[in-house]
Amino acid sequence: MGEWVVGVDLGGTKIDLGLVDAENNIVARRRIATESERGPAVVVERIAQIVGEFERELPAGTQIAAMGICTPGPVDHISGTLLTLVNVPGLSNTPLRQMLADRLKIPVRLEHDAKAAALGDFHYGAGRGSHSMIFIVIGTGVGAAIIIDGQLYYGDRNSSGESGHMTVNPNGELCACGTRGCLETYTSGPWLVRRFERALDESGRIADTIITGELVANLAHQGDPEALKVVREAGEALGIAVASMAMILNIDLNVVGGSVVKIGDPLFEAARKTVPNFCFKAVGEGVRIMPTALGDDGPILGCAWMAREALAMDK
Ligand SMILES: [Zn+2]
Repeated sequence: MGEWVVGVDLGGTKIDLGLVDAENNIVARRRIATESERGPAVVVERIAQIVGEFERELPAGTQIAAMGICTPGPVDHISGTLLTLVNVPGLSNTPLRQMLADRLKIPVRLEHDAKAAALGDFHYGAGRGSHSMIFIVIGTGVGAAIIIDGQLYYGDRNSSGESGHMTVNPNGELCACGTRGCLETYTSGPWLVRRFERALDESGRIADTIITGELVANLAHQGDPEALKVVREAGEALGIAVASMAMILNIDLNVVGGSVVKIGDPLFEAARKTVPNFCFKAVGEGVRIMPTALGDDGPILGCAWMAREALAMDK
């Protein structure tokens, strides 16, 4: 703490930027279109422009000391390079960290967005005071980040945390990754929609509106039987995945982020109820599954933490 920093969440369609004060409040925000097809130099320049706007809003005597930025993966966090970004055309193989650091003349850290959001919750949200934590992001896709003894775990090939493609039902649906019954085929926004549409068909109901993940969540809250069925199945799949991870890692705390968190209790209760059926009693007893405490601010606050970490390491 003590420094003002900027957190940047660079996504496929938009870039969210937050100016974060010394007490870790996001005091100013901007959202711009990513326009990644215009190339890395343009993206860097547009980010720098917003940083310039933030600078004009700073109290006298303060300055922006560092930046953390996160993107959909995969990224090489050590060299600060984006690898092959399927969802962000035009930015693959960009040394984004160095480009930003050169342009802004401040330390910059780059991380995968799920890992950044995990750092946010671990240090400032649901994970405060914990030693270890699994962070599961469920939105358009499903991924996870694992923090062990306070450190992100990357794996031998920087591929840890692909929990969206854990098989929870070998006889399940064919997933985009080529295997069957992945966690993602139960829980992601697009799959919730697909499953709800099918449940409607099977019950003879006809949808009178366009079905979105948000609609399924709202209907589940209102007690709609087909929506509840689909959401409970998603919760059960999540519970199986959490139980398996708990058996291997024995990490108690599972924090869930991403748009699916808005479903709330119907999802979480089904997940919690399922865990004990798929792991040892002694392991399952400790398992907690809870929503992010940071709402949609996890990535920006995680990036702020990364920025402060960069400053601490440079000292
Ligand atoms: Zn898969």
